[in-house]
Amino acid sequence: MADKTLICKDCGNEFVFTEGEQDFFREKGFDNDPVRCPACRKARKQQRNNSRRDYE
Ligand SMILES: [Zn+2]
Repeated sequence: MADKTLICKDCGNEFVFTEGEQDFFREKGFDNDPVRCPACRKARKQQRNNSRRDYE
């Protein structure tokens, strides 16, 4: 097991999927690698939480 460098689907930047994160994903039962970098994941999460307020 080693760190992996992945390409973010949203912004196209490379990000590192670390050994520790890979372990975490496996523990959670996710078989797939993440497709987004941490920044985009966070942005999407915030967008979902704020989406209703944005339209008000
Ligand atoms: Zn990204």
